[in-house]
Amino acid sequence: MPSAHPVFGDTPAIGLICRNCQATYDLIAQHACWECFGPLEVNYDAAALARVTREQIESGPQNLWRYAGLLPVGQNESDRLSLNPGLTPLVEADNLARELGMRKVWIKDDSANPTHSFKDRVVSVAASAAGKLGFDRLACASTGNLANSVAAHAARAGYESIVFIPYDLETGKVVTTAVYGGGLVAVNGSYDDVNRLCSQLTETDEFEKTAFVNVNIRPYYAEGSKTLGYEVAEQLGWRLPEQVVIPAASGELLTKVHKAFEECAEIGLTDQAKVRVFGAQSAGCSPIADAFDADTDVITPVKPTGIAKSLNIGDPAAGPYAIESVRATGGAFAKVDDDEIREGIRLLARTTGIFAETAGGVSVATLKKLLDEGRLDPDAETVVYNTGEGLKTLDAVAAQAGPTHTVDASLKSAKQAGLLD
Ligand SMILES: *Cc1c(COP(=O)(O)O)cnc(C)c1O
Ligand SMILES: [Zn+2]
Repeated sequence: MPSAHPVFGDTPAIGLICRNCQATYDLIAQHACWECFGPLEVNYDAAALARVTREQIESGPQNLWRYAGLLPVGQNESDRLSLNPGLTPLVEADNLARELGMRKVWIKDDSANPTHSFKDRVVSVAASAAGKLGFDRLACASTGNLANSVAAHAARAGYESIVFIPYDLETGKVVTTAVYGGGLVAVNGSYDDVNRLCSQLTETDEFEKTAFVNVNIRPYYAEGSKTLGYEVAEQLGWRLPEQVVIPAASGELLTKVHKAFEECAEIGLTDQAKVRVFGAQSAGCSPIADAFDADTDVITPVKPTGIAKSLNIGDPAAGPYAIESVRATGGAFAKVDDDEIREGIRLLARTTGIFAETAGGVSVATLKKLLDEGRLDPDAETVVYNTGEGLKTLDAVAAQAGPTHTVDASLKSAKQAGLLD
């Protein structure tokens, strides 16, 4: 048995490891390798992971901490700084499948989390790590949902927060963040400008005790996304789906869900199975999809436009790894334009009762496009990830989603409007 880590206590993690050169580090607040500047990831004791059983997980809490044995923090309740997200519905989308001519489709609906996006998962793991690492303020560079989640987690924990967003986000993202009362800095620039500013701030004395969840403690943040893979496997009765469609901004979510599927099979939670991973981007910001199409893994940064603002990262940190996951599994990337995204939101709503934000519209529209192009198998069991809530991006569909009839409160008027023969 390895002894407990002096800072993190009981954990299957043994340190951080560079994805490029495999240099190893202790569990510290560091996101880039000192040797080669490659991204650092959490490094686990394989034997500790392999000891995790289905029964252990099933007897755990009704939230993402049931997978604590596969995460760097949170083995004990006192280790957690969390809104306890997770165990969101896996919805059988039979009407959607029928309409698209598919055999079996599920929507993994992560809009059901406490702040209504999958970002609660990554923030719960990162904030818990921040507590262990001695930080007393939470921060982030955000396209909206991350800011919302960080501000809420800080409020619950009694921590200070200061979050940074591009100036032109949706009202639904700004208000749901500001209401928690922390610092909210609108930056005159794109997300990529916001991210650069935050990187610079981490180097200053004033921000020395501030954990930017997706910058200086990014390796911990990234691990939270794995729970979206474990959960789908468990909800399918410890089986892996045959195909998944996942929206990509930085590409981290996609990469880590793929990693989670591999871990499930490696440690025996599921049988070995090949999951084809498909990535979804918006045409207004498609650097990963474009690199995939050009058959390269060199990402050319773009200046984002379009309504899928939560996905508007022009220089995606995990882009090359997302391409690697998609290629290795025989999947593909595709992109959809704003009209297709609006159509995707309405198609999902009409057939499942789920109102997705624009990123979910990107997933559903991409599913449809990949089917139309014959790149996705209509007969394979497919899980589509909805990562956020439609109420935060009302403007996207407001023009097409008003009353179907307007009448006076009389039968005569109802008849005139065609409601009665
Ligand atoms: C952040 C975000 C994503 C993409 O996450 P990455 O890990 O950066 O690829 C997808 N959907 C929603 C709603 C998000 O907020
Ligand atoms: Zn390295």
